[in-house]
Amino acid sequence: MKPLRILFVASEADPFVKVGGLGDVAGSLPYALQALGADLDVRLVIPFHASTRTEGLTLVRETVFTLLRDGREVPAQVFYTDVKGLPVYLISGAPVTGSLKVYDPNPLADGEKYTFFSLAALEMARRLDWRPDIVHANDWHTAAAIYQVRRMQHDPFWKGVKTVFSVHNLGYMGPEAENALVSYGLPPIHEPLLPEWACRQPMGQALWAADEIVAVSPSYAEEIQTPEYGYGLEKYLQAQRAKVTGIVNGIDYSLWDPARDKALEATFDSTSLAERAKNKANLQAQFALTEMPEAPLLAMITRFDFQKGVDIALNSLRMVTDLSWQLILLGTGNAALEDAARKLEADFPHRIASVIRFDARLSRQIYGSSDILLMPSRYEPCGLAQMIAMRYGSVPLARATGGLRDTIADSRTGVLVTDA
Ligand code: ADP
Repeated sequence: MKPLRILFVASEADPFVKVGGLGDVAGSLPYALQALGADLDVRLVIPFHASTRTEGLTLVRETVFTLLRDGREVPAQVFYTDVKGLPVYLISGAPVTGSLKVYDPNPLADGEKYTFFSLAALEMARRLDWRPDIVHANDWHTAAAIYQVRRMQHDPFWKGVKTVFSVHNLGYMGPEAENALVSYGLPPIHEPLLPEWACRQPMGQALWAADEIVAVSPSYAEEIQTPEYGYGLEKYLQAQRAKVTGIVNGIDYSLWDPARDKALEATFDSTSLAERAKNKANLQAQFALTEMPEAPLLAMITRFDFQKGVDIALNSLRMVTDLSWQLILLGTGNAALEDAARKLEADFPHRIASVIRFDARLSRQIYGSSDILLMPSRYEPCGLAQMIAMRYGSVPLARATGGLRDTIADSRTGVLVTDA
């Protein structure tokens, strides 16, 4: 039997490049799908970002072609590599190399980059004569691939190809991609149930065009159909509820394994949790926090974003300074939140460390030594940090929203909030 072919299209994927949870998912879900059986042929395609890590990999230039943007040719180069048996394609071209960050501070640059990338990912499949049965795209960045497959149904190569669109975060819709979409030949759609602005944006177009919409947790699949979390698209999503499902993300336990994690001073498993004390002492020494074995070490490892409730945590902690606790905060993002974190550390230097950077190794050390991970998210489509924390023996303290509801069980009852 011919294997089922899945083209997995994403803006980031670990270990090539990771900014947040999408990188974790795109770096592990293709393997999990592959492991379902030999009758699946899964291939991953990501942009060849300037920050892509390629040490130790052999990259082969696979094909070159051009896309048309307002009648002008934009060259694309496709590189191929194989990581632990997974075929991976990296797409380069001026819209990708011209942008230094995975998510550019200039949203117009992102609009150009991701429209180019999404369409190039499809053109690549055609050039390689590798016709996918399913195109699986993720969030607004790769949404144009979903819309384009629908538009190309008259083309024998794309006819009958199905699409899955995963919504990792409905809050980001790619409004600044509007012009790029039109320039690359993707006109606004006409759908009376969608607000007019959404018909011009990649998120709205993919929700309309996709055969299946998968939110990254069952609770989030429900929430996006309400005004509070639907960002104006809730009516459309309600009308489309038959094609909306929620599947909770997961983490790869072989990549996140405290018994074998080289970043840890002391490795451990569930039978040797006492070892964590060494990691905690090590972290306290590293960040000049007073050693207080009896005080819980709180942690936050997060993008500094309104969504994540960093401000809620910082303000709340100021109200309980009479209690005994310490905090280590690791994150980057919103400048005002970064300043607020630095200010909190300046006010309480021996109990708070604010580390304003992206640091994968340090994140592992924090998961492997903290007592409590704070996730006061205003909304959380799925969240992976709480899953990693649980794997590493740090208890998540979270707001009962989205995927946090679906993955954190009350330790006294073992019951998920959603089951209660
Ligand atoms: P989101 O995808 O919304 O950013 P998730 O909880 O799903 O949130 O995933 C966040 C991922 O990014 C986790 O793997 C977390 O450990 C990692 N992460 C976030 N900020 C940092 C940072 N500053 N340094 C290292 N890892 C980080």
